[in-house]
Amino acid sequence: MNQTLQTWLGQQIQSLKDQHLYKTPRILETPAEGKVRMDGTDVINLSSNNYLGLANHPKVREAALKAVEEWGVGAGAVRWIGGTMSVHDELERRLAKFKHVEAVLVFQSGWTSNSGCIPSIMVDGDVIISDELNHASIIDGVRLSPAEYRKSRGWVYNHKDMNNLEDILKRAASFKKRMIVTDGVFSMDGDIAPLPDIVELAEKYDAFVMVDDAHAAGVLGKCGAGTTSHFNLYGRVDVQMGTLSKALGVMGGYIAGSQLLKEWLINRGRPYLFSTAHPPMVAAALIAAIDVMETDPEPMQRLWSNAKWWKSELAKLGFDTMGSETPITPVLIGDEAKAAQMEKMLWDEGVYALSIAYPTVPRGKARIRTMPSAAHSQEDLTRALEAFAKCGRKLGLIGNGVRV
Ligand SMILES: *Cc1c(COP(=O)(O)O)cnc(C)c1O
Repeated sequence: MNQTLQTWLGQQIQSLKDQHLYKTPRILETPAEGKVRMDGTDVINLSSNNYLGLANHPKVREAALKAVEEWGVGAGAVRWIGGTMSVHDELERRLAKFKHVEAVLVFQSGWTSNSGCIPSIMVDGDVIISDELNHASIIDGVRLSPAEYRKSRGWVYNHKDMNNLEDILKRAASFKKRMIVTDGVFSMDGDIAPLPDIVELAEKYDAFVMVDDAHAAGVLGKCGAGTTSHFNLYGRVDVQMGTLSKALGVMGGYIAGSQLLKEWLINRGRPYLFSTAHPPMVAAALIAAIDVMETDPEPMQRLWSNAKWWKSELAKLGFDTMGSETPITPVLIGDEAKAAQMEKMLWDEGVYALSIAYPTVPRGKARIRTMPSAAHSQEDLTRALEAFAKCGRKLGLIGNGVRV
């Protein structure tokens, strides 16, 4: 039966709406700070990944403005055809030093870092062994690879389940290369991968490890250098992916590892080869962001003290924060419709905190995902907590009792 595109789209969208899964973005009218104006309303923003407040940091802004004067606004070409400016090169050197690796290659985003790197290093005859809660960009990168990876064939392990991972590694001996890939900090749950155990298993079964540190950069490790630094696993994680769009406050992603890895990705990483380089102001702003991270410990300290306070107060109220160990703080609601309702009620109380539901997380595990950051004042978080208490009680998610 023939269907026009418009009818098909209409039906699909109605079905999303019926399932409370339909999304529309709100429009931010101010910089990405702790307090913002969105859709004409002043709210506390608990959904930004601007962990360290670098997205609107005076030194980072200044570096970007200066770069516009010096370089203009565009790189004009892909990196390997004349689009690599000295400022791009400098950023990669700075990142390599920051990450304690031989070399770093920067991509346009964290997404393109994963989708560019994974298929270029994992080829026919290899196997990719993946945590079931890995980020969508890892999954898409894996799908672009001819290596074996399918869940149905048993190459996806239960979340952080090391016995399951070991069983899979035992079955994977006949492949040419074995890569274990994991989020360093899981983006929807805020828990940390057991990287020391993963690295040990990889070494025992002759596999190598790729870690996606999108939510660990700026959050864990020395000056925010990520999970490899946090667990002191220098030299034992072959591929570290990171984003420059979250804690670093700007835009971009990178792969950190050996010089040979960098050279291979320059030659085979398709987003590097076929998509234009960052505007020079992006690279300059990122260099300034690294300067701040290396010299000013205050934003990271504030991030963690805010995050600890926020989690413990939510727990005291009786909310389930799902075992989160990092600033990413999910507040479990369960039912998709109820989560959407909670989001709406919080908004009416002046708090922007997005509900996250299927397919981003499993069905029945809908949640409000909150991100306390260095950009929040104590007053912001206190007000947000009062809103959570009020809405949670109205929806029967927590009791009316006095706090313990
Ligand atoms: C956000 C995110 C990415 C993508 O990074 P961008 O720079 O936003 O493209 C990749 N992996 C994880 C785990 C993320 O949370």
